[in-house]
Amino acid sequence: MAKLRFSRVLLKISGEALAGTRAFGLDTATISAFCQDIAQAAAAGAQVSLVIGGGNIFRGMSEQAAGMDRASADYMGMLATVLNALAVQDALEKLGLTTRVMSAIAMREVCEPYIRRRAMHHLEKGRVVICAAGTGNPYFTTDTAAALRAMELHAQAILKGTKVDGVYDKDPVKHADAVKFSRLTYMDVIKKQLRVMDTTAISLAMDNGLPIVVFNMFTAGNLTRVLTGEQVGTIVEG
Ligand code: UDP
Repeated sequence: MAKLRFSRVLLKISGEALAGTRAFGLDTATISAFCQDIAQAAAAGAQVSLVIGGGNIFRGMSEQAAGMDRASADYMGMLATVLNALAVQDALEKLGLTTRVMSAIAMREVCEPYIRRRAMHHLEKGRVVICAAGTGNPYFTTDTAAALRAMELHAQAILKGTKVDGVYDKDPVKHADAVKFSRLTYMDVIKKQLRVMDTTAISLAMDNGLPIVVFNMFTAGNLTRVLTGEQVGTIVEG
């Protein structure tokens, strides 16, 4: 087994990634496919924590929420991430992994509350920790939750799993001449307004020297390639 460059990571998965080709909701085949990569990474000895988005169900800043009080809409968005977390937990457990969903909003009949020290303990025991409900605060995003959890859980990197194989200078789906970056600085991302993670998350990562790797999580084996330090996707660092 190759030596791991990153042995503890925080994997951010957007809600949209859970929807597969659907416009809304969950696609179990898609979820099961990337969960196999998580199982492979765990078998290689990596400690994996996840932050799951909710955009496939509800976003606070969206047409669905037009006219609503922003904080109420954001709480709905956070609840959407809990639905997604339970779906991912189910898929991971079908593959034999031990997992814990830990929510930033207490709902003790459904999952554990997020307690940092307990989360660290689960990771040390080889359990996959799925962080749900974002930061628990409105006006934030799950990108920011990912940066926050990565830092407090002492992850060595944030891995942003997407449908494309890295960060491009323009949308590669719409522009055939789009150029992929293999490495960027945090300031490049902010100045060029590249769609990596939102600015709050980027600046948190920058202030704490936490690398971000953006990669295609739908190419089988990619997660383990990133963990072993292969050049996959785009790395954002100082
Ligand atoms: N959200 C929030 N606080 C947080 C994280 C999320 O209020 O700390 C809400 C916000 O309304 C957001 C929604 O939850 O739109 C879903 O999260 P996000 O948009 O980050 O999901 P993704 O785009 O990754 O699917």
